[in-house]
Amino acid sequence: MTAMSSAYSASPAHGPHRPAATPHATTEAKIAVIGAGLVGVGVAERLTANAPFLAPGRSIEDVLVDPCPPGPGRVWREEQSPLMRMNSFARDVTLFPGKAVRCEGPARPGPSLAAWARETAAGLLPPVDPRLEGDLRETTPDSFATRRLQGAYLSWFLREVARQAPPGVRVTTRTGRAVALTAGPDGLQRVRLEHGSRLDADAVVLALGHLDARPRGEEADAASFAARHGLTYLPPGLVLQRCLS
Ligand SMILES: Cc1cc2nc3c(=O)[nH]c(=O)nc-3n(C[C@H](O)[C@H](O)[C@H](O)COP(=O)(O)OP(=O)(O)OC[C@H]3O[C@@H](n4cnc5c(N)ncnc54)[C@H](O)[C@@H]3O)c2cc1C
Repeated sequence: MTAMSSAYSASPAHGPHRPAATPHATTEAKIAVIGAGLVGVGVAERLTANAPFLAPGRSIEDVLVDPCPPGPGRVWREEQSPLMRMNSFARDVTLFPGKAVRCEGPARPGPSLAAWARETAAGLLPPVDPRLEGDLRETTPDSFATRRLQGAYLSWFLREVARQAPPGVRVTTRTGRAVALTAGPDGLQRVRLEHGSRLDADAVVLALGHLDARPRGEEADAASFAARHGLTYLPPGLVLQRCLS
């Protein structure tokens, strides 16, 4: 996987209660969020919401790093079967820290997964990939949405966060896996990505989710037994990453 970077577009739109950002900041503060899944995009949301207080007088880049698509990340990728569903009601799923949420910085009210699906199906919000239109229409507040639809909701949420970022704040993404994190002599954090590229940041957030583990004990025995006998052993893991054919 090569490391690529891209910037989300940010419009001048921003919340009315945020202090004005300094327009002529000279040095940009960089915050790297390793892992652009559900928690990573939530962190990016709080970083942009609190940006004027985090680094006054400086512009800020929040860079999300993941080998998987930013937003859906590994779990909620849009290219999985619609048979894979969430285990939460669509009405209970939201990324938005509304007024009822106790957290630092301004609240950001927004639609739950169910409300987003309804408004998107009605053409009030940007459309989803045509392959997800059926998932969209069948989603009600009391249904268990497909995981891939949740991925589309996460993608839209991240785009909204970038679009509503205050002036001087950028949300960018890099495709790649982080393989090392060290402190540089200049006080910066050094993230090394696989294939050798490097990302220097003022601060690093690790939002890695559940990590894979090497088979040990009974799992290792089963794997070597299967290998010896021409069989296939499937260790525990994400179904969408397994070949079950
Ligand atoms: C299959 C599955 C189904 C689930 N279903 C539900 C559900 O229906 N409802 C519910 O409430 N919860 C569910 N969960 C719980 C789930 O853990 C959370 O919903 C959520 O995805 C966790 O978010 P996260 O950001 O911590 O982890 P993830 O969503 O896994 O995101 C972590 C990201 O970090 C990236 N990453 C890891 N290591 C690196 C690295 N070295 N460099 C760069 N990037 C890296 C990964 O690629 C991944 O995209 C489910 C979990 C799984 C695994």
